[in-house]
Amino acid sequence: LLEKPQESKLIKQMRAIKNKIMVMSGKGGVGKSTVAANLAARLADRGYKVGLLDADIHGPSIPKMFGIEDERPNVGEDGIIPIPVTENLSIMSIALLVEDKDSPIIWRGPAKMAAIKQFLEEVAWGKLDYLFIDLPPGTGDEPLSIAQLIEKLDGAVVVTTPQDVALLSVRKSLTFAHMLEVPVIGIVENMGAMRCPHCDEKIDIYGMGGVEKAAADFDVDVIGELPIDPEIADIEDQGRVHLEGDRDLEWFREFSKVVDSVENF
Ligand code: ADP
Repeated sequence: LLEKPQESKLIKQMRAIKNKIMVMSGKGGVGKSTVAANLAARLADRGYKVGLLDADIHGPSIPKMFGIEDERPNVGEDGIIPIPVTENLSIMSIALLVEDKDSPIIWRGPAKMAAIKQFLEEVAWGKLDYLFIDLPPGTGDEPLSIAQLIEKLDGAVVVTTPQDVALLSVRKSLTFAHMLEVPVIGIVENMGAMRCPHCDEKIDIYGMGGVEKAAADFDVDVIGELPIDPEIADIEDQGRVHLEGDRDLEWFREFSKVVDSVENF
């Protein structure tokens, strides 16, 4: 009798996760981790089982956003146990495995690839509805590794600000997702506008239209336009992203459209 080749652990693990979604940006500092963290937390609020993998090896900020930067994961029978922050949400990040959080991580491509493989293969994610992967900015080794290691990525969310420099690089991210054959769920525009704290008037900071144009050129949707809101930065600095989802803020109302788009994709 011919024996079937053994299903690799990685394939088995990834098949237990219904939706594997990467969050990308062309540039740093545009709000990619903010979007990844809130997507994970808000879908968990809606009752889904969610995992969040911080694959931003050089600038891991997810643990701080959930107040778990001093925790260290345990190892169980099925592998490294991701840190649970609520009943429905657990998190893994390179920042939780390194000794000194102020030391930079200096790795070449193959080492990064090995680390990412370990995150997918040896973390006991279990059965999940969603796994969000917060990628480093740009189109380097990490997104490529993720796309190669996961049989099928279900979607990509691309985050940008409306400045020209960010838009230029977001076009690269869209091309990259297309080359990897990962369907783009949509573009999230972040920090394009703010409300004047005195008169409440909405101010468009960079002028309009750039994000829509990129979206139209690549035939993808803009799934949210998130304003600048210092409260959002505060919630993150205090490590309370998983706890503040019902706060009555314009930012959260706009963000619920992003969550709807991912849920309905
Ligand atoms: P990236 O992952 O793209 O580097 P982050 O999500 O870490 O970006 O965001 C960079 C900084 O900007 C963080 O301090 C974050 O709290 C803040 N920030 C992101 N989006 C907003 C927003 N809409 N309003 C106010 N601050 C924001």
